[in-house]
Amino acid sequence: MIHVVGAIDGQTRCRHYHQDRDVIAIKFKCCNKYYGCYYCHEEAAGHDAMVWPTDEWHTHAILCGGCGAELTIEEYLHCDYNCPSCGISFNPGCSNHNHLYFASYPGERKLIMPKYQFHAMNEEAAAAISTWIYPTPYTMYSMDDSEDTLEELMNGEYFYAETADNPCIGFVCMGGSARVPGGYVSGIYDNEAYIDIGLGLEPTRTGQGNGTEFVTESLEFIRRTYGHTNFRLVVASWNERAMKVYQQVGFIKGKEFASSVRGQEINFTVMHYSSSFLI
Ligand SMILES: [Zn+2]
Ligand SMILES: [Zn+2]
Ligand SMILES: [Zn+2]
Repeated sequence: MIHVVGAIDGQTRCRHYHQDRDVIAIKFKCCNKYYGCYYCHEEAAGHDAMVWPTDEWHTHAILCGGCGAELTIEEYLHCDYNCPSCGISFNPGCSNHNHLYFASYPGERKLIMPKYQFHAMNEEAAAAISTWIYPTPYTMYSMDDSEDTLEELMNGEYFYAETADNPCIGFVCMGGSARVPGGYVSGIYDNEAYIDIGLGLEPTRTGQGNGTEFVTESLEFIRRTYGHTNFRLVVASWNERAMKVYQQVGFIKGKEFASSVRGQEINFTVMHYSSSFLI
């Protein structure tokens, strides 16, 4: 029988995932060993995990705890959560974690453990965010803790981000909340295939190299939760620091337009990003 690191029974369940249908183990690309889950790998392996790139999805890397069959990643992703060999049901909820095992791209990929957890905005987080004041030259992003600001933050289009050491470290908004008035006139919102997003990090966390990771995980959250794969945002054209972060993530600069924000005329640049995620 194939050894599964972290398994607590003969069907590959582990102490992290041990419901009825948690009956697959995953072989990790980095060490070629089967583990019960990514936590099992993190606890036992002693090295950073790698995920399987698309050009290696023909590898037998999924072990069925029902019959011991080894499925290729491709077979597993297309089996509709039933083992093609014995018919046992796999947990469809596992698909939420596919990105922790399988990459959406060819080539080698290091697994980056998610750092941020996103939640629908609540009053506590909104109250905290509404006091955020940014230093010059970023004062246009500062909040005022007015009723209007709180109401806006609670309009259902905002989510706050939590990390292990900070209950509210950033936010992401989508839809109308992420748009600026001048954008309508200039036609940048005409293409409805894109979802508009806006992001903010707590003032003390900006400018420290946290941006790329925060943007990447925000997009991943929106993609997983709402299925969007085409993203659009606007950034003040003078804000090269922010633009650089978005470009590092893969956003491409589009046209420039003017919009008034709180009575001030500001030039914005629209940026687009389409991800052809497969999983
Ligand atoms: Zn490993
Ligand atoms: Zn586990
Ligand atoms: Zn099976």
